[in-house]
Amino acid sequence: MGNHDARRAWMELTEHRHYAYRGCAPDLDEPTRAQGDLDLGVDAWLPYTEDDGEQPSVRIAREKAAAAVCQACPVLAQCRAYGLAETPDGKLAEPEGVLGGMRSLERHRDLIQRRKTAAPAVVLGAADSRLDEARTAQKQAVLSALARESDEELVAYRAGMDVRTANWHRAILTGLLGLDKDTASRGELLARAAELGVLPKRARIRPDGMHPVPAAPNTDGSRQRRIALRMTIQLVLPGMEHIPRVPRPTTPRRRAAVAPVRALRIVRTAQHLTLPVTTVLEAAA
Ligand code: SF4
Repeated sequence: MGNHDARRAWMELTEHRHYAYRGCAPDLDEPTRAQGDLDLGVDAWLPYTEDDGEQPSVRIAREKAAAAVCQACPVLAQCRAYGLAETPDGKLAEPEGVLGGMRSLERHRDLIQRRKTAAPAVVLGAADSRLDEARTAQKQAVLSALARESDEELVAYRAGMDVRTANWHRAILTGLLGLDKDTASRGELLARAAELGVLPKRARIRPDGMHPVPAAPNTDGSRQRRIALRMTIQLVLPGMEHIPRVPRPTTPRRRAAVAPVRALRIVRTAQHLTLPVTTVLEAAA
């Protein structure tokens, strides 16, 4: 849907014969209140109210109350069509506020879902020239490193670049090979690279183990933590081999043998000037 459709959707909404009865219109007796629910102000549908310090929880509650009023609105369908209309560059014509019973976040999610559904499936072959970018020296270095390591710092070290650059190449590679950056794992990326003939020939893939590693992690590591919740976070210095954790021995340690206490005898007793008496003891034979 382009700008033209957004304009048409707007006209269909505003020229609807029931538009004057919409839920978010000002009440005739109390113009600052919404006629669909007098408990709500007319700004409840806007992204921000006059109260600058509105807490996120308060804002969400307000938006939900506004969206509930929309459900009984006579122009709900027309309003929703307008709220989901796009500009020519693929953005929402009305990105903020509540429209057609949908909050801004919900409309953006709907837009992303529409994009995914509409995107044609990428069909690539090993001879496809679109894969040339995956055969550049840097991408090949990242693929080789990724085949060997799963830790992003080690991948970057082996590829000879910083972590941010290595992750950027990983993200580009994931898209180039037709995989979803949000769901693809490192293993899937490498398998796809091997299938399409862009994985360096001598690369040997080390499996992820029990926890799949994302193909294109965020630089802050938030995705890794979300995917591998039970995985312990371990700092690994660049250039150091990963040292797996060894479980602690369960067998009890033997206590050192304690020498039997023997009788003591006084060897000598001395008193120098004002110092206290010092008694030296040694074990009796
Ligand atoms: S659907 Fe909601 S936002 Fe749209 S006109 Fe009706 S009350 Fe207003």
